[in-house]
Amino acid sequence: LQRLRQRLAGSQGGLGKGLLALLSRDRLDEDTWESIEDTLLAADVGVKPTQELVEQLRTRLRVEGAGADVRSVLREELVTLVDAGMDRRLQVSGADGAPGVVLVVGVNGAGKTTTVGKIARILVAEDRAVTLGAADTFRAAAVDQLATWGERVGVDVVRGAEGSDPASVAFEAVRTGVEQGVDTVIVDTAGRLQNKAGLMDELGKVKRVVEKQAPVTEVLLVLDATTGQNGMIQARVFSEVVDVTGIVLTKLDGSAKGGIVVAVQRELGVPVKLVGLGEGPDDLAPFTPEAFVDALLG
Ligand code: GDP
Repeated sequence: LQRLRQRLAGSQGGLGKGLLALLSRDRLDEDTWESIEDTLLAADVGVKPTQELVEQLRTRLRVEGAGADVRSVLREELVTLVDAGMDRRLQVSGADGAPGVVLVVGVNGAGKTTTVGKIARILVAEDRAVTLGAADTFRAAAVDQLATWGERVGVDVVRGAEGSDPASVAFEAVRTGVEQGVDTVIVDTAGRLQNKAGLMDELGKVKRVVEKQAPVTEVLLVLDATTGQNGMIQARVFSEVVDVTGIVLTKLDGSAKGGIVVAVQRELGVPVKLVGLGEGPDDLAPFTPEAFVDALLG
């Protein structure tokens, strides 16, 4: 929590503090409410959630009157908005002796490969046996990068020849995982987004071949928090192509747009489960609404 707070406090452009300052004015006139809306929109919270939050705040502050504890009202309403009653547990365990299979999807550069490595590290620290699949075969560097993570974390990485079929690598990775009786197989996939049909073919095939051997327990969409609306468009395309079960929001350390958490959860109807807070091996954390809001409020 401390680390999240440090990372967010400096970089969020003061979303929480900005709101708090506005709400603490002596008179909450229409201009002030407009500024509050602008602040939320500028942080990528999205139009509808912004309207709902402002409505809630207006009502509560009117009801509670001059004696209201503005900070705790804001905190409560932000936590409710961010929490959205979603289950954020990572599904990494299979059933009936089969490993859990985690597919990691997203556009190139979002931080997929790095995230696969970091998740492996977390699972290994919990004494789970893990195998990685380097199915991002279109980017030779991605395969090497994952191999390096494998060495660092101490897990096997199944890789194919450069340019080989991603689905065949994914198949081989899960086959190896089943054979070795590991707990979880994490598959790094390719993220070319030139055309939706191609992406759908490719990810669909990866999922199908994997499911011949073990159920896919989690499909994590990796999104770069710094890409704002562009990231939202990507998120939409991926969610149309594959059943996304969780979001990993990377580069939150470098974004003033923390509101994208709310926007993307609302858009896809799935929770943010993990956040990336830097490039280092330990810079991936489970997402908890309370800690996130506390970090925003500083
Ligand atoms: P991929 O193409 O989606 O597999 O992306 P990579 O895993 O290769 O990551 C792209 C770049 O983003 C690399 O330089 C990573 O170190 C960096 N990166 C990934 N996650 C984070 C994060 O949470 N914060 C920051 N600052 N950089 C990150």
